[in-house]
Order: sequence, then structure tokens, then C-alpha cells
Amino acid sequence: MYAVITENDISKWKDSTGVLYHFPKRYEALLESGTNLIYYKGRIKDSIYRPSRLSDAPHYFGVAKIGKVYLDRESNKGDLFATIVDYRPFSVPVDFKDGGNYLEDIPPNLSSNYWRNGVRPISKEIYELIFQLGFDHGDNDFIRSKNLESSNNDNIGTLESYRDGEKKLKFVTTYERNPALRKQAIAIHGLSCRACGFNFGDFYGEYAEGFIHIHHIIPVSELDGPRTIDPETDLVPLCANCHSVVHRQKNRTLSTEELIGLIRAKKGSSENSHT
Ligand SMILES: [Zn+2]
Ligand SMILES: [Zn+2]
Repeated sequence: MYAVITENDISKWKDSTGVLYHFPKRYEALLESGTNLIYYKGRIKDSIYRPSRLSDAPHYFGVAKIGKVYLDRESNKGDLFATIVDYRPFSVPVDFKDGGNYLEDIPPNLSSNYWRNGVRPISKEIYELIFQLGFDHGDNDFIRSKNLESSNNDNIGTLESYRDGEKKLKFVTTYERNPALRKQAIAIHGLSCRACGFNFGDFYGEYAEGFIHIHHIIPVSELDGPRTIDPETDLVPLCANCHSVVHRQKNRTLSTEELIGLIRAKKGSSENSHT
């Protein structure tokens, strides 16, 4: 499956390029997990957005894939969002027209309102054509591998430079500090502590809105080396207190379930002592 997705300069959607993409339910069938994406921006409407664009004209600016699709918990209309993986920005903007012709095929029945659709299915051939044009600047493979490298580094960090004893801790914190994974984890899990339910915005108000620690659960099988992190199953939101407690003993990180168990046991015993 291949699709173009639109990212506008001004939008009600809380999108993040190469990280998250929100969309209404009518596009669900076009954006299944694994769909190959081309990123598109329409014509510039306000020059203040110029620094964040490759071109003022409507253009394509990168490729990516749909990771997983989730229900948007903040929507009452059944909106969805997807995690975005393997994002690679183009080295040059690709104009939406080549000469006088659009690069996308516009079906006759959509000729009057085609560009109004933020998500548009395309053929494999058109995907490959735009892909080629986006990376087509002399040293094609070099640019491609460079982009790949930088997005990989984002995830893996510099594990090897650490001594063995520090390796595990470094491995954990690298993922916990990755801004893209953090955004995805918050979109999926929300901002309340998984162990005690604490919510910084609810308790402290607007100033603390959006604050939460993201903890990386490490399955035993993973301690030997890095693998792709799934923000749904590998990351959980924890408040600062709970997060400190799970890491309190360096050689024995608690699982979230163990921590929940501790909180319950303690609550139970203090309730009993008052009777
Ligand atoms: Zn907590
Ligand atoms: Zn942690």
C-alpha cells in the first residue's frame, strides 16, 4: 500500500513529522500498518512558516511508513493516529507538478476537489517516481544511507562506548530520552502514571501539563543488545516518584506490576493499622 499524507503548517492535529500522524476515520483503510508514505505540504499561507519548509510551492518532502494505528483517546469523533517509522526527509523538495502535469494521478471523479483530501492513495510507480526525485541529487545512495544512519542513531545511541557495568543503565536511559519515542508513548499511553495514577496536569495545573517520565521496560531477553523499541509494549508513563522507586536498586529494576503490588500492599497494611 502506498499513500501521500499531508502535513499543513497550521493544523488542529497534533502531528509531529516522522513521529505521529493524526487522521479522521475516513482515511483508516488507506493507512494500515506498513503503508509506504510520501509526505506532502500544500502552498505556503504565511511566510513565518518559511524556515520550516523546503519550498513555498506545494511539494513532497520525505518518505516514511505507518507503524501502528491507534484510537485517539482525546477524540470523540473516532479519530485515529499512527506512529510513523523509518522517516527520511528528502534532500530536495519535489514539486507537485512536473512541467504542467501533476505527479499524482487525479481520478476524473475527484478532479474538482482532489487536493482537499489530506490522505491520498497512490500507485507504487508514482511512489517510486517521487522517491527518486526526492533523493536524486548526485550521490543518491550516500544521502540515503546518511539519512538512515541518523534516524538509527536516534534509537540506539552510543551503547558500545560504555563499560559493561554501565551498559544496562545506559541502554535504558537512551530509550527513555528519545524524544520521538517519548511522543509516541504519550500518545499511546496518556500522561497518567501507570503505577499510581498520578497526573501532573491534574494535580499542579497548567504549568505542569504534559510532564511525565517515560520508563523503558526491559524484557530479560533484551539485556544483551538493542532491538527495535515498540512504544506500546516497551514503554510506560510513570510519575517522578514511581520512576525513582523502580530504579532505586541499580541491579534490580522493579517491574511495573511489582511496583503496583508494593503500593497496594502498603495501602492495605496502613488501612488495617487504623482499624
Ligand atoms: Zn506514580
Ligand atoms: Zn526507567
